[in-house]
Amino acid sequence: MNPAVRPEAHSPYPVILAIANQKGGVGKTTTAVNTSAILSRRGLRLLLVDMDPQGNATSSFGIDKRALDSTVYDILVRDVTAADLIIPAVRPGLDLLPANPSLAGAEVELVDLDERSYRLRDAIDTVAGRYDLIIIDCPPSLGLLTVNALSAATRVVVPIQCEYLALEGLGQLIATIDLVKRSLNPDLDVAGVLMTMYDARTRLSAHVVEEVRRFFPRRMFQTIVPRSVRLAEAPSYGQSIDEYDAGSRGAAAYELFAAELLERLGIEQPTLAHLAGNTEAGDLHLQ
Ligand code: ATP
Ligand code: MG
Repeated sequence: MNPAVRPEAHSPYPVILAIANQKGGVGKTTTAVNTSAILSRRGLRLLLVDMDPQGNATSSFGIDKRALDSTVYDILVRDVTAADLIIPAVRPGLDLLPANPSLAGAEVELVDLDERSYRLRDAIDTVAGRYDLIIIDCPPSLGLLTVNALSAATRVVVPIQCEYLALEGLGQLIATIDLVKRSLNPDLDVAGVLMTMYDARTRLSAHVVEEVRRFFPRRMFQTIVPRSVRLAEAPSYGQSIDEYDAGSRGAAAYELFAAELLERLGIEQPTLAHLAGNTEAGDLHLQ
């Protein structure tokens, strides 16, 4: 056995979910942000970790990333504790570990640090007990930031854009996930593949879905996220899709995806009894 493998298994809760694909612009952040918002609204205690120096998940919640004194970078490189960095309640029930361009330095600085692949996992472990689900938004690369996310995670969702060459690079991503599972994190498994930006007017989208389904016959989520301008607009208002336009097709798709995800992860939706003691219960839109 590789000595780098840690023998102790994760406790079964919370599920730590990485949203990963080294291809840029496939919907990782849109999926991480909207799924986090929808599930926290349904009563789950959620932590969203922004592992991308672009800080798009951070700004999607209306947070000015340039004004942040410290970010995930300080957790990875400077041994600041996660508890000190969490921005609590960006929405009821949803905490955020923010990022901004300073995080780009970590990719280089981590190389020389001990346990460089486990820095995020160790940080998350200290706060994990507070949450039902932790979602990590990965950057578009397979460097040490993504390796840290995959080493901390128990599950991965891979968003794939319904576009020409959708499968390109996927072999490399799967090989990386397998390598991390074998050498760093035996608890890691692929939860599924989510098709995004489906355009019903083109034959290409349908063709790509069929092609990806052949590649992942059991792993594709039934929900397919349509191309919807409302999904692209929402972040510029600092809003998630359920806040910006709850009646849109994009909102409906992410509501369905969130439900399907909970089922696949084996997480029960909180019951009304659980929420009765929650002071925010009046705000919750239960589905
Ligand atoms: P990066 O790799 O740069 O981090 P990403 O994989 O996180 O990108 P997003 O930022 O979620 O991808 O999406 C890329 C762009 O496409 C964004 O402008 C986003 O608003 C838009 N977008 C995402 N999903 C959809 C959709 N279903 N319909 C229309 N636009 C979308
Ligand atoms: Mg992104």
